[in-house]
Amino acid sequence: MNTNLYINGEFKETPNKQDVINPSTGEVIAKVSIAENAEVEYAIKSARNSIDYGLWGKLSLDERKNFILKISQGILDHAAELASLESLNTGKPIKETTFMDIPSSAAAFEYFANNLEKYLVKESIEINSSIAKAQGNLIREPQGVVVLIVPWNYPLLIASWKMAQALAAGNAVILKPSSLTPLTALILAKIVNDAGLPAGAVNILNADGDTVGKTLCSDKRVDMVSFTGSNAVGKKIMEYASSNVKKLIMELGGKSAGIVFKDADLESAVNGCLCSIFLNQGQMCTAMSRIFVQDEIYDNFINNFSAKAARIKLGKPEDFETQMGPLMSRPQLEKVISYVQKAKAQGAKIVCGGKAPDGASLKQGFFFEPTVLTQVLPSMAIFREEVFGPVVCITKFSAIEEVIKLANASDFALAASIWTKDSTKAQHLAAQINAGTVWINTYGMFFNELPYGGFKQSGFGKELGKEGFLEYTRLKNVITDKTQDSKPLVNYWYGF
Ligand code: NAD
Repeated sequence: MNTNLYINGEFKETPNKQDVINPSTGEVIAKVSIAENAEVEYAIKSARNSIDYGLWGKLSLDERKNFILKISQGILDHAAELASLESLNTGKPIKETTFMDIPSSAAAFEYFANNLEKYLVKESIEINSSIAKAQGNLIREPQGVVVLIVPWNYPLLIASWKMAQALAAGNAVILKPSSLTPLTALILAKIVNDAGLPAGAVNILNADGDTVGKTLCSDKRVDMVSFTGSNAVGKKIMEYASSNVKKLIMELGGKSAGIVFKDADLESAVNGCLCSIFLNQGQMCTAMSRIFVQDEIYDNFINNFSAKAARIKLGKPEDFETQMGPLMSRPQLEKVISYVQKAKAQGAKIVCGGKAPDGASLKQGFFFEPTVLTQVLPSMAIFREEVFGPVVCITKFSAIEEVIKLANASDFALAASIWTKDSTKAQHLAAQINAGTVWINTYGMFFNELPYGGFKQSGFGKELGKEGFLEYTRLKNVITDKTQDSKPLVNYWYGF
């Protein structure tokens, strides 16, 4: 496979190589080129050039659309390879990469290619007031050079969301995958190259964030940074970007709440809540790591939920029967263990899980059992901080006002899910919950048509939908005087 960087339409090998680890065995699976600041400089120059002087900036919308559709098709043509590589590199069960990550990545390119013309429609506004007559033409232009920095939990999917929107809007991009999970981004480089995009339109740099982040995010030639990742790194990027005032999108962490009312369909709520915390080993920004259950059904819910959680099948990610793989890395596993141990020491009760699995075949990997905690207090770190693992706190509530307070007692505000048969109550609650996305009787549905993004410490800006797409554009207002039979006011102002 390609293990090199992709800059200015060429693959570039670097003398230094970085190991890529398989989290289910701890073994090295690849050695890939790693960018330093010289490669960042080259990538910025080539992206800038492709926008200002190159072919990419001059294409018609139709030509642009066709290139992006070729990327979508390229992903589908490489779907099996991408699914198994993503699974190998992240530890995600292959069932998830095959049916979610890879087809959704292709669908993002297809959707934004097919809708760019609709979203880029020009608007014309007539001004006809007593002091002026004018016409304003509102024009959507690309931002220019956009840096896309993505995390390791959905490497290809989040890269594809960002790249599809940015390219469809006409930008040149520099994609920086997480250095833990560069493999599918490097295949994407090959797909882009095979699609024949003009040189410099797409640059893909595997790199360590702290080594290249400052150069990448503060350079004057970069117009925008679209970041998905942790709160701590997001704050660093905001600092770098402030030196030259850049447009930013920040998709950061979460501590989302699932709320289950006594009138919910219990089976559907239990099964949905299991997915909402255990898919991808709980390494989801929108993980419902706090579940609130109404007191009348609390015991029943806990019994059902923990019995099913204990049945989730841990195993090798490449096995289609596997329902949960390893966590991404040893530090991630250690972080999860330390949160659980601390919560236990503070009085939380472990209802199921709470440790690495016993099976000898999983011992070398970074596995951790699906874990259910009760008796968690809102003051505990496990209730307030993002654990990013298969660990859920389940808490009892009685009144709707109480659950609104509990759910909103978080610095984050990314997502929530509500389980009830009463749609009026659900809509009322959705309006009161601090979250950018609220799911009712479902979880985790992302649509290319609908915007997604958080509030508060979960960040700002949207991805997907018209609103997400337009983030990657800048709005120009061209005003033409339309004063009939006379001259505009500025003509007379000084009386000359
Ligand atoms: P992370 O913040 O450690 O890394 C994200 C990216 O930033 C990586 O590519 C990394 O190399 C890069 N990076 C690190 N230091 C940098 C620096 N100084 N300058 C520039 N870039 C730098 O996040 P992670 O551990 O990869 O992912 C997990 C986090 O991502 C969680 O907090 C999760 O909630 C968040 N996340 C959020 C969303 C969302 O949509 N809100 C989606 C997925 C993940």
